[in-house]
Amino acid sequence: MIRSRASVGLIASALVLAACQTAGRTVYEAPLRQGELLDPPAATEQKQTAATTQSDFGLVDADTIAHDGRYFRITDLSPGERPSPETLEAGLWQSMDRVEQQTRTSGNRVDDTELNAYLTEVTCRVAGEHCNDVRVYVMRVPAFNATMAPNGMMQVWTGLLLRTRNEAQLAGVLGHEVGHFLRRHSAQRMKNVIETTNFLAFFSAATGGWGSIAGLFAQGQLLAFNRDHEREADGYGLLLMNRSGYDPREAALTWSNLIREHDANEDKDERDPFLSTHPAPEERSKILGELGAAVASKMTTSEKGRDRFLEIMLPRRAAWLRDELNQRSFETSNELFDILLEDDPNPAEILFFKGELHRLRGEEGDEQMAIDFYVESLQAAGTPPAELHRSKGLVHNRRGAHTAAKESFEAYLEASPNASDRLIVEDMIKRLATS
Ligand SMILES: [Zn+2]
Repeated sequence: MIRSRASVGLIASALVLAACQTAGRTVYEAPLRQGELLDPPAATEQKQTAATTQSDFGLVDADTIAHDGRYFRITDLSPGERPSPETLEAGLWQSMDRVEQQTRTSGNRVDDTELNAYLTEVTCRVAGEHCNDVRVYVMRVPAFNATMAPNGMMQVWTGLLLRTRNEAQLAGVLGHEVGHFLRRHSAQRMKNVIETTNFLAFFSAATGGWGSIAGLFAQGQLLAFNRDHEREADGYGLLLMNRSGYDPREAALTWSNLIREHDANEDKDERDPFLSTHPAPEERSKILGELGAAVASKMTTSEKGRDRFLEIMLPRRAAWLRDELNQRSFETSNELFDILLEDDPNPAEILFFKGELHRLRGEEGDEQMAIDFYVESLQAAGTPPAELHRSKGLVHNRRGAHTAAKESFEAYLEASPNASDRLIVEDMIKRLATS
């Protein structure tokens, strides 16, 4: 009895799951069906991308809600469009403009002209004629995330740049965010919140008025897009990759790597905002993989842009790897480093940070592991940071291996003659020589 009841339950839940997946898949596919896929040798030319973008985004649900003489109209944005002043959405944009001012001068913002120019270039290639509607800000935050505000302010976190492996993967994420913008998902979200709660309660929730809307945005409330918004944005990501000539098969790889990191975390504490949103990463990876392959089969040329991407990212990466370790989530970081090592052009740098991981964790056996990774780094291809020798010296010193420690500190000063901590290290060498 129990067995057959269990079987019925299993079959029922399998059917529900199948139904959900079918429904979800339709939303993923919608942008691809609305947009005629391009075979783009010429798609990399801005003009062609631009010419085909708008008509394909013409949709679906013109929708209004009246309140106090103001209303929503949720149709796709045209290039250069701002919501007209009598709409509720205009207030949403204005408050986001203020948040954007704060973002511009935020201490977390990465003020790096070359990096910002590169991200703007890729965003423009993906966004086509909406290039001027979207502004990218790189934020130094060690988690995989990008956000899109309703007024076109996009944030890309350094933890995302650390994890994407080529320009096509980056373009997939940027395309996803541009999809949220074009489909006005924040406005749809706000409309749903107002409809399902109470308009006045919504506005007086914090300090009142539009200021509290900015607060809600900062707390992620307006970013908590629903499942179908995420699926639709994923579909736009693939469509825009096709439009701009990027290999759409790369989009799924980003997700499968994130799943590996997530699974390596014993606590599974959902620390990545992207992983805590619906739909499940496994679903996204699977469907993006299938649809990405289908889109790719219709393209005769596409590119990954790996060399160009790495040329920009590699010289900047050490700081982001350090941020990653400072979170002290060592299982996930270790898995990330292993993923990077699979095809990294500078394995010496990654191996150094694996050594740092063991040095900082400080559990049983970690000191020896740290030394082993430092040695491996020195023998590997690429260039480790000069501070490898200092870290190696610190571990030797901790273990009482004074001669080895002294040699490592000397190697550090030789590799980094202008080190800011030179006086301290010289002092340590002197004391080790007499010990
Ligand atoms: Zn999203």
